[in-house]
Amino acid sequence: MNINRIREDFPQLTRKVADRPIVYLDNAATSLKPASVLAAMEDYYRNFCANIHRGKHLLSEEASAAFEGSRETLAKFINAKVVEVIFVRGATEGIGLVAAGLKLQVNENVVGTVLEHHSNILPWRVYCAYRGAPLRPDGLPDIAAAEALIDEHTRIISITMCSNVTGVIVDVEPWAEMAHRHGIPLLVDAAQCGGHLKIDVEKMKCDFLVLSGHKMFGPTGSGILYGKRDRLEALHPPTLGGGTVNRVHADYSYDLRDLPWRLEAGTPDIAAVIGLAAAVEYIKGLGLEQIEAQVQKLCGSLEACVDRLPGIRSCSPAAGVRRTGLVSFGLEDEVFSADYITRLLSDSYGIMVRGGYHCAHPLHEYLGIKSGTVRASLQVYNTDEEIEYFGHALASVLKMVAVGGRVGI
Ligand code: PMP
Repeated sequence: MNINRIREDFPQLTRKVADRPIVYLDNAATSLKPASVLAAMEDYYRNFCANIHRGKHLLSEEASAAFEGSRETLAKFINAKVVEVIFVRGATEGIGLVAAGLKLQVNENVVGTVLEHHSNILPWRVYCAYRGAPLRPDGLPDIAAAEALIDEHTRIISITMCSNVTGVIVDVEPWAEMAHRHGIPLLVDAAQCGGHLKIDVEKMKCDFLVLSGHKMFGPTGSGILYGKRDRLEALHPPTLGGGTVNRVHADYSYDLRDLPWRLEAGTPDIAAVIGLAAAVEYIKGLGLEQIEAQVQKLCGSLEACVDRLPGIRSCSPAAGVRRTGLVSFGLEDEVFSADYITRLLSDSYGIMVRGGYHCAHPLHEYLGIKSGTVRASLQVYNTDEEIEYFGHALASVLKMVAVGGRVGI
């Protein structure tokens, strides 16, 4: 792969901070956007901006075709049927839609793992209890322990396919089998996966899956909820409004529209959906396997440069466990917070990593880390030189804070 060529696709990589080109290592929070995605969105706004579905004029038809064409692109990307793809603003909204649509009761519960992002805990907690299974010593969630948490009030199992803190990748198929043995559905939070791993919902046998568009080169405000047709049909649409019905009668009773539209109330973010489809085309152009090979290669160097620093506590899974291209670490001597280290790396070195709890407070508590973690996460445009620079910068920052000094710019 010609990484320098690929870097030209991302206008933001020319940005300088602290007089140096930025090093963007915050891809697990959101990836940068290639010019083709920006162009697709601009094309809509400049040339065929109109509302979809309801108008009968030419521009509305063009916008509707682009919107529904994007659905086909996303459906093919995850091996789903077109009617099984619901456009949402992101993974959080997708999980919230299922939680609301299941009409969960206060005496019911949802089973997940301690790895989960708040977005895969709190939408359930609005309605019912949540039970998180512990981890095995190798960092993978313990499926037997999860099974022991299931009782007659468990409505759904909802697990991450890839942790945004440890990077561990979960093989979701056994979880689907386990859920189905108990007669309940499995939702897979694949927010971290769209730009890294092949997703095949048929093979995974999951009932629901959410993708976060903005983490896979797409615009913010884009994402999908996949659901098996019968599972989506069984959801009570939590929001009704324009676009969700065939008819509202004089007595105000109504007939719901078919899937997928009954679950997409109001005017969607049309430009974001078009941008997300352009992001999928971009991924297909590079090849997911090639992207991941590059990221995995860099992840080895990233891990090595973090591991050789003193006073670091890595959150990575055990060697040999499948993981994605991110490394989070806490400081053994938790005098300085991860936020502080992150700010120094940003302002003194132009390196963008993330510091804090990454919306995973229960996981940090479970791991016994009080002051948060610093997370460096990779994408295809990162280079060996950037990792090396990050390693030097981090070593300097840690040395400085260890002696209580200040970093010179
Ligand atoms: N789940 C995981 C594992 C995540 O990393 C994130 C984003 N940090 C989310 C859910 C929420 O995704 P979104 O921003 O698309 O709502």
